[in-house]
Amino acid sequence: MQTNLADFIKHTQEGQEADAILRKCVHCGFCTATCPTYQLLGDELDGPRGRIYLMKQVLEGKEATRKTQLHLDRCLTCRNCESTCPSGVQYGRLVDIGRHLVEKQVRRPVSERVLRTTLKEFLPRKWLFNPAMKLGQIVRPLLPSALKNKVPAAQSAGVWPKTTHSRKMLLLDGCVQPAMSPNINAATARVLDTLGVELIVAPKVGCCGAIRHHLNDQSGGLEDMRRNIDAWWPYVEAGAEAIVMTASGCGSMVKEYGHLLAQDAFYAKRAQKISELTKDLSEIMPDFEQELAIKIGKINKRVAYHPPCTLQHGQQIRGKIEGVLKAVGVDVKLCADSHLCCGSAGTYSVLQSTLSTQLRDNKLKNLEATNPEMIVSANIGCLTHLQSGTQTEVRHWIELIDASLKH
Ligand code: SF4
Ligand code: SF4
Repeated sequence: MQTNLADFIKHTQEGQEADAILRKCVHCGFCTATCPTYQLLGDELDGPRGRIYLMKQVLEGKEATRKTQLHLDRCLTCRNCESTCPSGVQYGRLVDIGRHLVEKQVRRPVSERVLRTTLKEFLPRKWLFNPAMKLGQIVRPLLPSALKNKVPAAQSAGVWPKTTHSRKMLLLDGCVQPAMSPNINAATARVLDTLGVELIVAPKVGCCGAIRHHLNDQSGGLEDMRRNIDAWWPYVEAGAEAIVMTASGCGSMVKEYGHLLAQDAFYAKRAQKISELTKDLSEIMPDFEQELAIKIGKINKRVAYHPPCTLQHGQQIRGKIEGVLKAVGVDVKLCADSHLCCGSAGTYSVLQSTLSTQLRDNKLKNLEATNPEMIVSANIGCLTHLQSGTQTEVRHWIELIDASLKH
């Protein structure tokens, strides 16, 4: 597509990146058919092609309006459109740039500003979030259902292994996951310990930066990234093999550190190295499939697997989790429309709750049609969101493997 970016942006790094992305789009509209919000709302402007058009207008100097902001807000950033696009349009990067620009031009109503500020200041700070989650879990039976849905029942993490191994990997423990579902990281540490790998949580590592970055606080997000790089760097220099992600949303973000910090003279090279070392757990485990099969035997369970968007579209990783589960005998199935988002999408379930709930219910209907005994996924947001709408147990896939290991 031809572009003519406005003077205020055309010579900036963001402007040049957006221009290159826009020029790749041929406006074919293939992406529209696989966009979850277009499927629900049927409005061209609630699909990728329409949103690209809106962002192009703003980049070319047309002033953004509240309506522009609304259509961008309704986007889940699921990046399903990137998987569909035959021209390689990096919609995810474009929408980050477009949202940033629109946010500067359109002032939100007070209620939205308060909610968004609360989310970006509260969620990434463990010292605020952890006690609030503990309190929420104590009073959970008394909470109204809308709030109860966001507070999973309290869970024990079990034992973190103490054995040291020569093979060492780092773990991003994340901001909200340890309080909401502490067993996921502990289960990962136990499984890897059984396979001869020591998992290390570096002090001072916190939120990957995705929460602030996606709420248009790009500089706050970069602060989170630099802090994590500083915390991991001594371990990287000491030979850590990988930085393991148990939440695909975080993995998708950390793999972008290299790109997002490319202009930072001090951090650029380190960020690049950190991104290269970052692996979703599903990229690590296939190497251990045979050993796992010997240690576990056969897990007789019917399981429906929901692949998070941040894994299948954001990181373009498909088939690995199903492969590991099948190797240990699990009867694992993908449901119809497994490429579609479950509606969780970070803070989307709070900010766009109606659309989010519709997507969740559609997803659960499809998952439950496979008649599973359990639903598994690979991202804390998806797990909590799906569990809020079903009585079927929803767990991280590594918990299923951990529960079957004789430690
Ligand atoms: S599929 Fe790709 S090229 Fe076609 S309209 Fe969508 S983003 Fe543009
Ligand atoms: S990221 Fe997802 S919701 Fe947003 S335009 Fe693309 S397919 Fe639609």
